[in-house]
Amino acid sequence: MPVGPILPATDDPDSAGFWAATREGKFVVQKCGGCGELRFPPRPFCKYCQSNDFSWHPVSGRGRIWSFAIAHKPVYPALADFAPFPIVIVELEEKPTLRISGNVLAAPGAAINSVDPAKLRIGQPVHVTFQQVAEDVVLPQWLLTPPPGAA
Ligand SMILES: [Zn+2]
Repeated sequence: MPVGPILPATDDPDSAGFWAATREGKFVVQKCGGCGELRFPPRPFCKYCQSNDFSWHPVSGRGRIWSFAIAHKPVYPALADFAPFPIVIVELEEKPTLRISGNVLAAPGAAINSVDPAKLRIGQPVHVTFQQVAEDVVLPQWLLTPPPGAA
């Protein structure tokens, strides 16, 4: 049995719009049609007003590292050769309670172990990049945002 990466279901009715957007290099979150709150990860109804009406709302793709861990011995065999590598949780600039997990890459398309985990800090600014991992799956990943004035 081939062992590849674990891939998300891109045809799930709640998240299909998100995956369609990442395939176009866009980062979107759900915007509630009832109360206007932004929500992520995608879900069938709003936790504030219970409306199931929503639209896809583009966001900047900027955020900060809310937390991170270092995978030294990944549970999933396909990732073992990359260890150790950092796994980050990013809070989005538009609403810090919107969080997404991913990896920090040294450059677009780089490996998930391309950034030394010792260089990561809570609160570090990051911005999104997109990494195609299967024909219909493009994952949002993260690049460190240089401080203002840095070359
Ligand atoms: Zn709502």
